[in-house]
This record gives sequence, structure tokens and C-alpha cells, in this order.
Amino acid sequence: MKSCTKCAEVKELNLFPIRKGAADSWCKSCYTASTKKHYQNNKEKIKAYRQTDASREKKSEWDRKYRESNKEKISARKHDWYVENKKEIGAKSKTRYAENSESARARSITWKENNREKHNAECMKRHTAKLQRFPMWARECQDIKFFLEEIYDLAIERTLVTGVPHHVDHIVPLQGKKVSGLHLPWNLQVITASENCSKRNSFTEAV
Ligand SMILES: [Zn+2]
Repeated sequence: MKSCTKCAEVKELNLFPIRKGAADSWCKSCYTASTKKHYQNNKEKIKAYRQTDASREKKSEWDRKYRESNKEKISARKHDWYVENKKEIGAKSKTRYAENSESARARSITWKENNREKHNAECMKRHTAKLQRFPMWARECQDIKFFLEEIYDLAIERTLVTGVPHHVDHIVPLQGKKVSGLHLPWNLQVITASENCSKRNSFTEAV
């Protein structure tokens, strides 16, 4: 038991946040209340701050770090959530996909038309990189062809089932700055498009 220096109540130890290995002097509910109060008093300021690039960058950096150090927890949570909501997710995403696929396609076409050169250059660059990183022996291997097709099908399937766009991603990027991966099944993974876009060509893990 411990007494909170803020509300002066005596509470169980697990009701205090742990900081640097020791229970804090304020209890959890006092922290929550104080955070809430601070938010209420500074609502407009906080909202405005959250719109700034600095805040967004900070948030995405925090998210990235959190994802990195909680990989297993997150994937277990995602899995549980998916299993629990499978049916609804499937039904919802089918309608959403049907409703949005037209406008999404139209948007994408408009963008490509307005940015034709940029788009073509990007395609060309990716295509060349893929060819360069797709070994001759592998191109003739039926098993590899089969697995590559399976992976691309999986991305389409996940997009349809979840309603969230999924991409096939090269784990080690084809056009990485330090290392270049190969266009082979074991260097491919299906991830959400937003994850893929935030990843870009960075590859920081030890190789
Ligand atoms: Zn307290």
C-alpha cells in the first residue's frame, strides 16, 4: 500500500505507475485526471499543435518505436481482433470495397494523368530494378513463379477481405541505399499499403 501525494488516498501499489523501476508518487487516476484537465484547459492549443508537421513527425516516430518494440504484442492483438470480428470485417469490407473501388480507381487515374511523367519514370525505375534484382535462374523456375503469383494473389485477397489496401513489399528494398534485395519469394511480404508507403526504401536492420 502507498499513499498518493496528490489525492492523499492510500491505494494498492499496482494503482501507481512505475517510473524508473519504482512506484510513482501520484496514483494512476490522478495522472489520468490531470491529463484530462490539461487537455480541457488547452484544447484549442493542443488541437492546433497536432496539426503541425513537427507534431506529426513526433507522433509517427513514437508509433514506429512502439511498433518496433511491441511487434509480438501487436500481431497477437491484431490476430485476436481479426478472429473475433472476421465475419463483420469481411461483410463490411466487401461493401466498402464495392462502394469505393470506383472512386479510388478514378482518383488514381486522375493522378496518373496529371503526373504522367512522374508516374512513368517511377514505373520504369521500379521495373528496371525488379528485372535487375530478379536472377535469370529464378525466372525460369516454375516453383518460384508459382510462389510469386501466390504472394500477389494474397495481397489482392487481403485487400478484398479487410477493405484495407495491401501491397507486396520487398523486405530488403530493391533500390535500397545500402543494400538491395532480390525479387524472390523469400524477400517478399504482404503488408498494408500505408505501412509500405511509410517504409519507403529504408532498411535499417542488421544484414
Ligand atoms: Zn492520487
